[in-house]
Amino acid sequence: MKFSLYLGTFRQVKVFIHWTFSLLLLWIIISNLRAGAPTEDILWTILFVLALFFCVILHEFGHALAAQRYGIGTKDITLLPIGGLARLEKMPEDPKQELWVALAGPLVNVVIFIFLSIALSITGFNLENLEELKINGNTIILFLASANLILALFNMLPAFPMDGGRVLRAFLAIKLPRHKATQIAGSIGQMLAIVFVFYGLFNNPILVLIGIFIFLGAGAEVSHTQQESFLKGYKVKDAMMMKFQLLSYDAPLSKAVEKLLNSQATHFVVVKDDVAVGTLSRNEIIKGLKDHNENAAVELVADFSPLKIEAEQNLDQAWRSMMSKNRKVAFVVENGHFLCILDQENVSEFIMVKSALQK
Ligand SMILES: [Zn+2]
Repeated sequence: MKFSLYLGTFRQVKVFIHWTFSLLLLWIIISNLRAGAPTEDILWTILFVLALFFCVILHEFGHALAAQRYGIGTKDITLLPIGGLARLEKMPEDPKQELWVALAGPLVNVVIFIFLSIALSITGFNLENLEELKINGNTIILFLASANLILALFNMLPAFPMDGGRVLRAFLAIKLPRHKATQIAGSIGQMLAIVFVFYGLFNNPILVLIGIFIFLGAGAEVSHTQQESFLKGYKVKDAMMMKFQLLSYDAPLSKAVEKLLNSQATHFVVVKDDVAVGTLSRNEIIKGLKDHNENAAVELVADFSPLKIEAEQNLDQAWRSMMSKNRKVAFVVENGHFLCILDQENVSEFIMVKSALQK
């Protein structure tokens, strides 16, 4: 994510903190100062927020490490003021696996809650002895324990794509096709999101943000799963593009511009000694013109390590791996030999055609 500070890596998962997080801390400091709180109280509150967000990181690692068990990597974990975000390469398709990956996060908070509760009882903490309920050295563990319990419960609300919503979808997907299950979970998620926004407007602005986030997230995932369902049962060879434009690796960019303007193509295959060696996209051409000039060779900006997919591979899998690796175009190979290309636009058109035929 842009404008994020890198914190470190654990088990191959990079952890970032988004710059807006500093706004949250600033807001805490300013609102406490205006309320006339002593510096010591403000420091305890900040320590509490940092400790809580450390628990949020652990929650996200719950998801990431559960996914790792099923061979699914996590691109990164980013901390935002509204919570954490683990970007998994994909969600497992097997409902049982999705169930465990979704449950693993809230389970981490339950475990932390149990540990902190034990710690409190060992130290002989007694709620009745408390004079006032504010965060300080005596109560920070109590606050952290309660916050972890609230986090676990809140995340288990069936508001897809929150954890509880994923659990719901996984249960539905045991009996229903995945896209139907997603549709139902998504509608429930969007209804809850509207409740969050309305409730949040009068009580808590962060809830408004979470509500919007859920509403958009649910919509995006429903349409994504819907599209994916149209690709099921097809192979890469059903959608690949047999007609494509070639460019020599040593040709000047002006040649690429000429082809770009004279054709529908947005991707070109770069060849060297009659062998396809890479791809050149419209964006790369534009970047090349900016960084160099139109006499610069194609090889300066072309991508020489294109994603390779087999012609016999399932189309939905190929599409997912293109999306997760953020590739607009891939080489289609057969028995290790270059055959042609598949680009995202291709696949989108394929989806449009199939969805039109189904209606
Ligand atoms: Zn979670």
